[in-house]
Amino acid sequence: MYPNWILQRAYLTPTRQALVFHEQSWTFEQLKEQSLQRAHQLTTLGVQQGSRVAIMGPSTPYFVMMLYACMHLQCEIVLLNRRLTKEELAYQLADSEAVMVLVADEDQEKLPPHVQQYTFSTIANSAEMAVDIAQEWSIQHTISIMYTSGTTGFPKGVRQTVGNHQASATASVLNIGLQTEDAWLCAVPLFHISGLSIIVRSLLYGNAIYLYDQFDVETITQHIIDGDVTHMSVVAVTLERILHTLEQQNAQASPRFKVMLAGGGPVPVDYLQRAYQRKLAVVQTYGMTETASQTATLTSEDGLRKIGSAGKPLFFNQLRINEPNGHGEGEICIRGPHVTPGYIGRYADKSTTVNGWLHTGDIGYIDAEGYLFVLDRRADLIISGGENIYPAEIENVLLTHPAVQEAGVCGQEDERWGQVPIAFVVLKETITTEQLQVFCQQKLARYKVPKEIIMVDELPRNGANKLLRRQLKKE
Ligand code: AMP
Ligand code: MG
Ligand code: MG
Repeated sequence: MYPNWILQRAYLTPTRQALVFHEQSWTFEQLKEQSLQRAHQLTTLGVQQGSRVAIMGPSTPYFVMMLYACMHLQCEIVLLNRRLTKEELAYQLADSEAVMVLVADEDQEKLPPHVQQYTFSTIANSAEMAVDIAQEWSIQHTISIMYTSGTTGFPKGVRQTVGNHQASATASVLNIGLQTEDAWLCAVPLFHISGLSIIVRSLLYGNAIYLYDQFDVETITQHIIDGDVTHMSVVAVTLERILHTLEQQNAQASPRFKVMLAGGGPVPVDYLQRAYQRKLAVVQTYGMTETASQTATLTSEDGLRKIGSAGKPLFFNQLRINEPNGHGEGEICIRGPHVTPGYIGRYADKSTTVNGWLHTGDIGYIDAEGYLFVLDRRADLIISGGENIYPAEIENVLLTHPAVQEAGVCGQEDERWGQVPIAFVVLKETITTEQLQVFCQQKLARYKVPKEIIMVDELPRNGANKLLRRQLKKE
């Protein structure tokens, strides 16, 4: 058992700054008081302790307060991606069996129909009811659940426990160090592990978060120049925008700014070099939903010497390449206390590990000095602006259209997003590409809608009639 993070942090450093959002800020004591109040209001509305509850909204202090209120009530929190369509959300809500959704007022209309829901303002206006707040949390307790797309096209709900998050935050700080004045700029979504892990670190380390609900590149870059933040997490697309802004102003990062973690997908080496010219320390990190954030991260001092590497495993973690000779390229496997104990819903019975090792589906190698290089993702995964897109999911949607005989989706290089999905279809009835695009827009989040739909006579297939996606790209 471990102390309730929120109560413990407020007890240890009550007056320290915890959260900054635009012109407003909160101390840890204030976050505790307000989140307890929300927990009492949720109780009035019938939220049971230990129940599974979904949350959806932009990254605001309100959202953080809801998260903490649900933690106080020991709820299993399903973090919904607010960019998804109603159909995608309906799948996750059904699969997770979440009893209700706590939704930001502005996101209410994004929810599918017939969902038990309370808006943030309804909650704020509710009466309070006394409830026993858990002072201690079990290490096995599932704090958060995040959906990650599967290669089969069905998203999987990943459990992230108290133990997973604590191991992750502890391993991270053993690598990057900790000082009282450290402050993380959080402009990654809180419904992704990149954002949620910043929340967890803040509670465990006692550091402030500068929270952003939008990627306001000018303001964010100014923080880096002024040095009022020390850490930040980025994906390749957002890193490039910051670099561009620094270059345009011929500015450098403040010496007080310590390190930027770049991950979620491959980071072009060129970006890393441009960053060093701006005195901006960027280190590549390799992590995923199933490992509650980072598994391996480069240290700052290795940043330039080992450019392109995702570093060495963090302290409690082990990395192995699953390949017959034990060296060379193969599937990256991970073991450690940060690895999820499993999925929920449809995949609840599917084991996440083999003999304790998580098989990531990512391809990489470890060099002679023990540094990890991530080469490629599971063959066909498309990563667009840090969001994973699985071709099969889009193909499945296209195939539900009566005019579509066959569909194959692959990624196409794109300057802005890294990659974008494009689709190849074989038709059985006449239809225009525009009509198909509109069809996809109704079923898929915008970033998953194929940027191009190309009509062909047949798709490349192997002897077993399996689609050869790699050959799609070449055509
Ligand atoms: P997610 O499925 O959203 O949790 O994203 C995790 C996936 O992003 C990993 O399985 C990798 O395929 C990819 N990824 C994360 N970090 C890196 C990195 N440093 N280099 C290449 N791919 C990465
Ligand atoms: Mg994944
Ligand atoms: Mg991702």
